Amino acid sequence: MTGGVTAGNHPELRAEARIDLDAVRANVTALAAHAGGATVMAVVKADGYGHGMVPCARAALAGGAGWLGVAFVEEALALRAIGIDVPILAWLAAPGEPLAPAVAADVDLSASAPWALGEIATAAHAAGRPASVHLKVDTGLSRAGATVADWPGLVTAAAKAEAEGVLRVIGVWSHFAYADAPEHPVTLAQLRVFAEALDVAATAGLRPQLRHIAQSAATLVAPDARYDLVRPGLAVYGLSPVPHLGTAVDFGLTPAMTLSARVALTKRVPTGSGVSYGHTYRTSAEAMLALVPLGYADGVPRRAGNRSEVLVAGRRRRVSGTVCMDQFVVDVADDPVQAGDEVVLFGPGSAGEPTAQDWAEALDTISYEVVSRIGPRVPRVYVGAGE
Ligand SMILES: *Cc1c(COP(=O)(O)O)cnc(C)c1O
Repeated sequence: MTGGVTAGNHPELRAEARIDLDAVRANVTALAAHAGGATVMAVVKADGYGHGMVPCARAALAGGAGWLGVAFVEEALALRAIGIDVPILAWLAAPGEPLAPAVAADVDLSASAPWALGEIATAAHAAGRPASVHLKVDTGLSRAGATVADWPGLVTAAAKAEAEGVLRVIGVWSHFAYADAPEHPVTLAQLRVFAEALDVAATAGLRPQLRHIAQSAATLVAPDARYDLVRPGLAVYGLSPVPHLGTAVDFGLTPAMTLSARVALTKRVPTGSGVSYGHTYRTSAEAMLALVPLGYADGVPRRAGNRSEVLVAGRRRRVSGTVCMDQFVVDVADDPVQAGDEVVLFGPGSAGEPTAQDWAEALDTISYEVVSRIGPRVPRVYVGAGE
């Protein structure tokens, strides 16, 4: 987890990721409206997609989330440790990971195979209480989950363990392969396989309260996939999971992260000056260069060199030359840029700055990667109460 700073303007900071907790809260409220009657599980794994897990979890709960979702047990335990007592699902563990602390802390666990159920049962015995389990079926992603062939064996084993009182099957769940294509034939096929898997579970005597398959995209655009609970992650942070179908604004979402830095140095250089490692950029006129103290060790992709844009002195400028480990350079031509001025890499876009989606497009990736890779050297500055 990243350390956070709680108040507003920090002119002493070299760089910061400003996180708008009011935006997170409002995004979750908007998602709840999109979800109809389904409960919202706000996904806060990976340090809240780089935004800071704990403050974002609190803001999401204030916005109406009823559950929190994380990948790993230690993420769930970190939420419990600060007193968050809502239901939490942690869905990914390797064999032999200690699960008893999760059961003891009332963290729900996922099982994709009978051996995993066995480990959860052992943890339940150690914790002295039944475990709460979500059985995962692989409906076509070929990632976690029991295959359709293995599903009857998993539900039978779960029904037996439930009858013995060692665990309770709270949920049956799955995940889509075409995360950004809710109308894709594979998505529709996965929904059919999911419905069949639910029938198989019912035949085995299971009565899970929560059936869930929808991530952000399906929450926003696939009403048939909502079932009892939806699991949005990216949209909680105000980014569109389906940029070809709608922008954040179209979905009533506000990007919560603004990544900025202060110019560390400016200098005038002559025409034809090679800039940064390998001189992949050369000035085409006499120019002012601005040095920005953020680099690939902070999560600014090296590929951003000569591709991504930043906002400086009210104007969009391209990163000039190679991004280094700690810094990069921007040719600001004749603009009146001074050391100490703010450079915005991305934000909500409302002041003319690029968005994380713009960065994703310039880099041939997805906005998930742009925000979640911002590293722990960049202080998170929280604005808005979020509650
Ligand atoms: C990360 C994740 C989510 C959230 O996905 P988004 O596309 O960010 O909404 C939901 N479910 C599972 C299993 C995940 O791994």
